[in-house]
Amino acid sequence: MSNALRHPKIAVVGVGRVGATTAYAMILEGLVPELALIDIDRRRCEGEAMDLSHGASFVRPVKIYAGDFRACQGADLVIIAAGASQKPGETRLDLTFKNAHIFKDIVPKITAQAPDSILLVVTNPVDILTYVTLKMSGFPPERVLGSGTVLDSSRFRHLLAEHCGVDARNIHAYVVGEHGDSEVLVWSRANVIGLPIADFCQLCGQGCPPGWQQEISSQVRRAAYEIIERKEATYYAVALAVRRIVESILRDEHSVLTVSTLTPMPEIGEVCLSLPAVLGSRGRERIFRVNLAPEEEIQLQQSARLLREVIERLDL
Ligand code: NAD
Repeated sequence: MSNALRHPKIAVVGVGRVGATTAYAMILEGLVPELALIDIDRRRCEGEAMDLSHGASFVRPVKIYAGDFRACQGADLVIIAAGASQKPGETRLDLTFKNAHIFKDIVPKITAQAPDSILLVVTNPVDILTYVTLKMSGFPPERVLGSGTVLDSSRFRHLLAEHCGVDARNIHAYVVGEHGDSEVLVWSRANVIGLPIADFCQLCGQGCPPGWQQEISSQVRRAAYEIIERKEATYYAVALAVRRIVESILRDEHSVLTVSTLTPMPEIGEVCLSLPAVLGSRGRERIFRVNLAPEEEIQLQQSARLLREVIERLDL
């Protein structure tokens, strides 16, 4: 039986490029009847609420308003996109201390108002900040998620779809580990119309250019850097990724998406990273620790170790 929420409320904390675009994507989908927007820049946030509200006659009914943290009250889901973003050449991990400092301030303000909510972190470095949010909130791990590698998995599927000449929705392929430079593209499990990639390419018979897989891996890992160099920030695709996560939770869809959550890594210690996870109305309902190829498993362990090292430098 579906446990879809009937009149869900969402709060977005941090209504900059990512937060505002995510709000827009959710409104277009008619996903939510009540949307609270919170930002340290109150005037700008009010402007976003006004601008988004003026589309009311073209979308499903939705009440949109700006407020302070009290506006989080009663939210079923709080999306956190507040904080600094990457400048050209900066890595996501370079943002750690700046954004962890902001999170230590805002997470208690959110949880005081919405103690039963699901928290969805988008701010980078997303895996580290998901862990910070978990610790600061004291919420159970099922209710603290990061957007993780949902976007990277979509980039992987898009590039495979172009290579194979089919719709990206007919590709199943995941990126796991850190949403960042150490992420792992799971080539060993990628499939097109149910076939492993190698079998599909043989069937297709058009001949793949040499080095095509390395080229796709590099493009997925470098995507954010390439976009930031050209237009300073990324926000459309991540907004769609977040909308998709929200949809699976609010509609209790049990979709499998690679969100970042607390993941058992016995030899490394506590860490949040992405693996395929089932998302429903209770948040993360299951994680799948799929068998990887030996070199992919080594890369995943390295990714987890790197994240753990950063966590150990934080004063939590
Ligand atoms: P932005 O600068 O446009 O917006 C950030 C917003 O946060 C601003 O409106 C700012 O006023 C607000 N803010 C800062 N401190 C705050 C506080 N204490 N309380 C409330 N609001 C506060 O940045 P952006 O481009 O929207 O990026 C936001 C974050 O999302 C960055 O960390 C970026 O790296 C990250 N991001 C993540 C992904 C992903 O896949 N997870 C993709 C793209 C961007």
